[in-house]
Amino acid sequence: MFETPETYKGPIDPDGGFLCFVTCWRPQAGASDPEAPGEKLQMSSYIPVAPDHVCLCGSGKTFGACCQPKRLWYPVCHNPGIPGEAGYSLLKVQSATIPVIGAIARLELMDDIRLNCVEDTPERAFWIYEGDPAIQTSHGIMCFGDIELQHNRTLYITALSDLRMRTLLNLLRETCGRWIGKPQIQYDVMHIIDKRTGKSVTRQPEAPAARGRRRKR
Ligand SMILES: [Zn+2]
Repeated sequence: MFETPETYKGPIDPDGGFLCFVTCWRPQAGASDPEAPGEKLQMSSYIPVAPDHVCLCGSGKTFGACCQPKRLWYPVCHNPGIPGEAGYSLLKVQSATIPVIGAIARLELMDDIRLNCVEDTPERAFWIYEGDPAIQTSHGIMCFGDIELQHNRTLYITALSDLRMRTLLNLLRETCGRWIGKPQIQYDVMHIIDKRTGKSVTRQPEAPAARGRRRKR
């Protein structure tokens, strides 16, 4: 069983580590049927990081040369099990809207064992991506993002970071790529703590730069 890092008991120092967000899904208290409706739990924890340790924002630099000297305290989310990537990424809440061309998309999503369908009505279907394989924690199964289908016409994807959104869009391309259109991504405003004042400030996140492309001179 994977343990969320909330067992840390020391002082919380914005220059000494990260605030980390985790979402879990668990069956409703007292429900005897494991297929019964459940609930989402959102938790935050503090992760101390040494200055020479790799930064949890995903830059590839050390913490001391990256986020430690910054004035703003950017939060991260935890991604254990997302293949080929570091365990953490910068928190960037975002959603994608995707037109759906064929009703078959719904059936194909229902067939994908990586997705847990928690609502299934003619108007709306809702899945949670639980990772591959799913990660059981002491608070429930970890959620890596949501997929909602409305009226078999539109998919809404929500994710906490660029890495998670990429993972979900790749999954959709694999599962029902023939039946869906191009995603439109929107970013939520970020709420970040100013280390000097302790107050929350807002920032509009930028879309990630296109990878592998460089301007010719
Ligand atoms: Zn960093």
